[in-house]
Amino acid sequence: MKTTLAIPVQKTTHSKLAETDFSNLVFGKTISDHMFVADYKNGEWTDLRIEPYGALDLHPANAALHYGQSIFEGMKAYKNEKGEILIFRADANAQRMNESAVRMCMPEIPEEIFMEGLLQLVDLDRNWVPSGKGASLYIRPYMFATDNYIGVKPSDTYKFIIFTCPVGAYYSKPVSVKVETEFTRATEGGTGGAKTAGNYAASLFPALQAQRAGYDQLLWTDGKSHSKIEESGTMNVMFDINGTLVTAPTNTGTILKGITRDSVIRLAKDWGKPLEERFLTVSELQEALENGTLREAFGTGTAATIAHISKINVNGKDYALPEKKSDSFSYKVLHELDGIKYGDIVDTRSWISKI
Ligand SMILES: *Cc1c(COP(=O)(O)O)cnc(C)c1O
Repeated sequence: MKTTLAIPVQKTTHSKLAETDFSNLVFGKTISDHMFVADYKNGEWTDLRIEPYGALDLHPANAALHYGQSIFEGMKAYKNEKGEILIFRADANAQRMNESAVRMCMPEIPEEIFMEGLLQLVDLDRNWVPSGKGASLYIRPYMFATDNYIGVKPSDTYKFIIFTCPVGAYYSKPVSVKVETEFTRATEGGTGGAKTAGNYAASLFPALQAQRAGYDQLLWTDGKSHSKIEESGTMNVMFDINGTLVTAPTNTGTILKGITRDSVIRLAKDWGKPLEERFLTVSELQEALENGTLREAFGTGTAATIAHISKINVNGKDYALPEKKSDSFSYKVLHELDGIKYGDIVDTRSWISKI
């Protein structure tokens, strides 16, 4: 691999590789041997290093713990049949991380540090990338405030870390969702468009209520009128209504700009699939469910790629959706994206970095 940044590496003396059961991976529980770390102080990123994955020293007055200056990313690497590692659209994650940083008053990370840290870390831990269709290495870059000061202000110091988790084949079972019209995930002017910790903390309580009522996830609506569908909280959502793909726009600042969403839109455009980036109203959704024009609904996100929605609760009423069909748009998209990620379909859009 060609590198442009010299990053010192301290290798682990206690690799957990041999004792890891790759046939029994629970998402997010198994963590690879090393992590990439960089510190921000005196206005610059310094001390770039790769070291054994391990506990951090944290001061009780750590600003991130009190006021939530904390942002993250999520992406995946895949192994092809030649043993090469393919990372999907990492540059888009680097860019989005910086957009989140600006909103949360945190320093941006030069794309070179993000990419080189990532590529050199994954190269070092390349034996942690599982092989086999569906398996992947989940990559978690994140940044948080490290000032030891409990006054409310942007921290002067930060840590940027990347660690990785091997994950097994993700058999995405169909999800049931409830349209949420009481609680709010994001409002215009808020932080919904940033991948920042607090958004997820705020969504736990309403999501738990929905789970207790028997739904897997929520479909969030706009915070002002609760009449427009926004997204699902870890996934963007798309609807095929009479052959036209409808998905919420991301220019309101209330919806996370999913890279899977963007990839699906790109494929839809390349294939000439009619597409509308606009808000679907709750009543429009209910009407399409009642008159049978809703052909399919699915979530898009890094973890599941495409998650088929099998049931939607609207205004207290459950609607069953048609079964997943092999001639559906989402099926075709999933096949195409998987093909590109595992190197079986030629990457004509420069979406893959190879190690
Ligand atoms: C990460 C995330 C998504 C999905 O984004 P991808 O880049 O496709 O993984 C959607 N919504 C929210 C709120 C998210 O945090």
